[in-house]
Amino acid sequence: MFCNHCGSKLEGTAAFCSNCGAPAGNTSPPTPPGYPTPPRPPAAPSSGGSAALRAIGILCIIFGPVIALVMGISRYLDVYSRTSSFFGSRDAERLALAALEQILPTLVLIGLLGVVVGIVLIVVGRKR
Ligand SMILES: [Zn+2]
Repeated sequence: MFCNHCGSKLEGTAAFCSNCGAPAGNTSPPTPPGYPTPPRPPAAPSSGGSAALRAIGILCIIFGPVIALVMGISRYLDVYSRTSSFFGSRDAERLALAALEQILPTLVLIGLLGVVVGIVLIVVGRKR
């Protein structure tokens, strides 16, 4: 039998190490039997509210840019279809692009807004 603390040889009956004084045998006292293990904190229940917030956030991130894109395309096609019958397709294309350029800042804003709002919702949903 050897000391668990310093490793020196111990007498079979020694209660303490003659070298360092550490208690012989198990250095760490065994947990008393029947001692209740401290209750583990219950896993944070994912409340429906925060999960919903995260879901809405993800939807915002996805649909913000998508809505902006769809609005831009529909604007382009709308102007193109209305002008191509009067002007040539080349001019209609130019007019449609000009119209698209006009609303481009709004579209970018919508897309960014969706992403920012989505991120905020996800962060808020995680904290709770
Ligand atoms: Zn020892």
